[in-house]
Amino acid sequence: MARRKQIYEGKSKILFEGPEPGTLVQYFKDDALDRDNRKGTITGKGVINNRISEYLMGLLGEIGVPTHFIRRLNMREQLIRELEMIPVALVVRNVVAGRMAKRLSMPEGTPLPRSIVEYYLKSDDVEDPMIAEEHITAFDWAGTQDLDDMMALALRVNDFLNGLFYGVGLRLVDFRLEFGRLWEGDFMRIVLADEISPDTCRLWDIKTNEKLDKDRFRRDLGHVEEAYQEVASRLGILPEGGPRDMKGPEVMQ
Ligand code: UDP
Repeated sequence: MARRKQIYEGKSKILFEGPEPGTLVQYFKDDALDRDNRKGTITGKGVINNRISEYLMGLLGEIGVPTHFIRRLNMREQLIRELEMIPVALVVRNVVAGRMAKRLSMPEGTPLPRSIVEYYLKSDDVEDPMIAEEHITAFDWAGTQDLDDMMALALRVNDFLNGLFYGVGLRLVDFRLEFGRLWEGDFMRIVLADEISPDTCRLWDIKTNEKLDKDRFRRDLGHVEEAYQEVASRLGILPEGGPRDMKGPEVMQ
């Protein structure tokens, strides 16, 4: 069998051509970038993020949020629907942290009076700048109807994940979502894409405020692998033997 074609390689994932038209295989790497954009690795991160994202996208699908997720193929790969990606990421914030804390000079951990949704342009050349709705519609990165759909989905995802994580003692501080367009004949739907994992969410222990996400790596806090495992374990999806026990069908060639 011929080796499948690589479509794209990003910071933490690789996309391959899928087995059928309209599908892709999403491969989760252990790679991570630190605060100075230097490459590092978090052992086993890809395996855990593949599983966490499968779990969360699966639940979101069940409550009627359309996602690109089809099924997990093996430890590091999942089958997804191919979308026309929208070059705008949405960040939903419940608590001040990260870039917002810096930009507004507010202490991290300040609760927000209501959830705030921000837009960022996905562009490695200019490091994903924050943009306004005006930029998005003026440059036709997305239309007003697309934006309405993305905003409504982001708020639904936020409500659902907030409750889910709260139930396992985690505060969903903020997270980033990506969306794409799925065409079915002349009909188009906005669909949730990418991943939802401790790489894309800030998760703090509700009692201790301990960080259980990528910030442990970026801020040199130690116990990075353990933090990812802790999130999976609290969600009840870490097998007893740890990530190595997350079996699936053999890697597709
Ligand atoms: N985020 C992400 N990818 C990025 C930038 C941010 O997944 O390229 C996530 C990040 O993990 C956090 C949220 O988006 O949960 C908000 O990040 P922020 O804007 O504060 O930027 P950061 O401080 O993470 O650079």
